[in-house]
Amino acid sequence: MKIYLDNAATTPMDQEVIEAIIPIMENNFGNPSSVHSFGRSSRAIIEKARKKVAGFINASPGEIVFTGGGTEADNMVLRCAVQDTGVTHIITSATEHHAVIDTAETLTKSLNYLKLSLVKHDDKGYVDLDDLIRLLEKNKDRKTLVSLMHANNEIGNRLPLKKVSNLCKEYDAIFHSDTVQTMGHYTFDVKELGIDFITCSAHKFHGPKGVGFLYINENIQINPLITGGAQERNVRAGTENIMGIVGLTKAMEVAYRDLEEHQNHVQGLKTYMIAQLKEIIPRVRFNGDPKGDSLYTVLNVQFPNTDMDEMLLYNLDIEGIAVSGGSACSSGSNVGSHVLRNIGCDMTKPALRFSFSKYNTKEEIDYTLSIMKELFTVKV
Ligand code: PLP
Repeated sequence: MKIYLDNAATTPMDQEVIEAIIPIMENNFGNPSSVHSFGRSSRAIIEKARKKVAGFINASPGEIVFTGGGTEADNMVLRCAVQDTGVTHIITSATEHHAVIDTAETLTKSLNYLKLSLVKHDDKGYVDLDDLIRLLEKNKDRKTLVSLMHANNEIGNRLPLKKVSNLCKEYDAIFHSDTVQTMGHYTFDVKELGIDFITCSAHKFHGPKGVGFLYINENIQINPLITGGAQERNVRAGTENIMGIVGLTKAMEVAYRDLEEHQNHVQGLKTYMIAQLKEIIPRVRFNGDPKGDSLYTVLNVQFPNTDMDEMLLYNLDIEGIAVSGGSACSSGSNVGSHVLRNIGCDMTKPALRFSFSKYNTKEEIDYTLSIMKELFTVKV
């Protein structure tokens, strides 16, 4: 039995997405920038996709820029906000994805005038909004970019987007939210949110890898980060990834078509797993606040120490169960999760991230639980 419970790292592609991409691969090789009919037909496909994507989040098509995924989109926001909008102060948090926090740190190191502030977290791992207000107030003479993710990819804690957006307006700050883990899992209305930038990656909701988009509010003008041709209305050079863009658009369509049903199904798996783990493993704890305002696809579990601490992930892998020891992007490094460390988790205890998708079943969770029970009955 092979069980995939690492959907926050990436998801399998929907069959409908694969089927939408194949005819594009077969027929639409024209360069969208070419003026002849081959190019024009590719251009038409991309513009149709842009319109659809914009429609899903209540944006205008001109506010959507296709990118090579979430990391690129996040980099664009931070680097272009500093380069083109007069930002001299970034507020972010130590638990952001590396695409944001490392970029913010790199920029601050290389630009003397740029100040970086890290907002605190409360004891459940939520961003402390009082501390955010304090930072905005203290730096109100500076042009500030606030970059805070919608849901944390390791622990699942969510940010109240509308509240933070209102605060940013009050202080005339630009607001970016990395919505890579939540796009396709929740609905978005950028007009209602009044947000400046959001970022998306298709492979987190059953789309292809290496493609995403950046939403840029029409009131903000940025210059390209990647320079070259005039693609993407002069904001992102490079021949467009037409297959990826079509796949991304189909993945959004499929995700939003039956969203509520999938939300309920996945939330049910998570709730069930929390209850069962408490029963079978003494002293099990959960990182973050899984029963609070938490992304329903993610469950971060802290296990009691045993002599197999280092081997937990491998023992599950041997049984065919794929989970993550934190963020997949950190795998291979031995410093441990920067998220767990920065919200004050006990780093001496082993932690695993289980992340679910609509394709997981209760039978798979039961099997996983039975293996966990075996592992811990012997050891604890
Ligand atoms: N932001 C978050 C919150 C993520 O979870 C990830 C992927 O793990 C990224 C950004 C990077 O996205 P991509 O893999 O498309 O570069």
